[in-house]
Amino acid sequence: MQPTHIEHLGIAVKSLEESIPYYEKLLGTSCYAIEEIKDQRVKTAFFQIGQTKIELLESTDPEGPIGKFLEKKGEGIHHLAFAVRNTDEALHAAEEQGISLIDKVARKGAESMNIGFLHPKSTHGVLIEFCSKQ
Ligand code: ZN
Repeated sequence: MQPTHIEHLGIAVKSLEESIPYYEKLLGTSCYAIEEIKDQRVKTAFFQIGQTKIELLESTDPEGPIGKFLEKKGEGIHHLAFAVRNTDEALHAAEEQGISLIDKVARKGAESMNIGFLHPKSTHGVLIEFCSKQ
C-alpha cells in the first residue's frame, strides 16, 4: 500500500467563487476542473502543482461532510490524499494494520478516481484518503 506521492490536498472553503481567483493568483495557474460530487455533497475545484493537486471543496449541503467541517472548524485543510496503486488493496492493508476505516471498499470520487478514507481517530487526527486510477 506504499503511496507513490501526495495526489492532492483537500481544502474546505466557504465559496469556490471567492477562493478560485485567490488560488489562481497565489499559484500562478488556472483552475482546470470544477466538478460536483453529489453523494459527497460538495463542489470541487482543482489546481495542478507538479505531481500534486490542490482540491478546493465547497459544501452544497450544511449537513454534508464539508458543511459540518466548516461549521466546526471553519475553512482550512480538510484531508491529505495519497496516490496508491490500488485503493481497495491499500484500504485492506491499512485495516490489517489495525487502522479504522471510513470506507471499507473504494468508491468513485472526483475525476473518476477510486477513493477511500481512513478514520482520523486512528491516523493521529489527519483525515487520510487513498486514491488510485484503478
Ligand atoms: Zn480528496
